Amino acid sequence: MSPVRRRRKIDGGDRIEEGVSKMGECLFCGIVEEKIRGEIVYRDNSIVAFKDINPKAPVHILIVPAKHISTLLDLQEEDKEIVGEIFAVANRLAEQQGISKDGYRVVANCGAGAGQTVFHIHFHLLGGRNFSWPPG
Ligand code: 5GP
Ligand code: ZN
Repeated sequence: MSPVRRRRKIDGGDRIEEGVSKMGECLFCGIVEEKIRGEIVYRDNSIVAFKDINPKAPVHILIVPAKHISTLLDLQEEDKEIVGEIFAVANRLAEQQGISKDGYRVVANCGAGAGQTVFHIHFHLLGGRNFSWPPG
């Protein structure tokens, strides 16, 4: 599903929304709403975590806000709490998955140039192997 741009009226203003499919649906909103299959490993009112379909490490989980936010740049003052909770969930999942002792990585790509391909913000929780630095 390739990201496309479309214009949507919000509060009478025009704004470009990225990562919305030609069917007008966001992939990760679909997983959150369980309209699209996802291997969900955590859910609460504001956060959902599910296994990446194409894992880059033995443990590769995507942690997303339940509400649609296209990129990190779109985060608002009111989203501060969600971002804090996402890291608390990452810690909890790292413990559960047995990757907390050896070390794990949390990655968020912002924008196509940084490698963002799905335009609903997500934090990659990666572990179970050694990682090099700097990332590619
Ligand atoms: P990004 O490149 O935007 O930082 O990360 C997007 C991630 O979403 C990739 O790691 C990719 O493997 C994952 N992904 C893409 N499509 C699906 C899907 O349909 N289901 C799941 N679970 N993960 C997906
Ligand atoms: Zn979405």
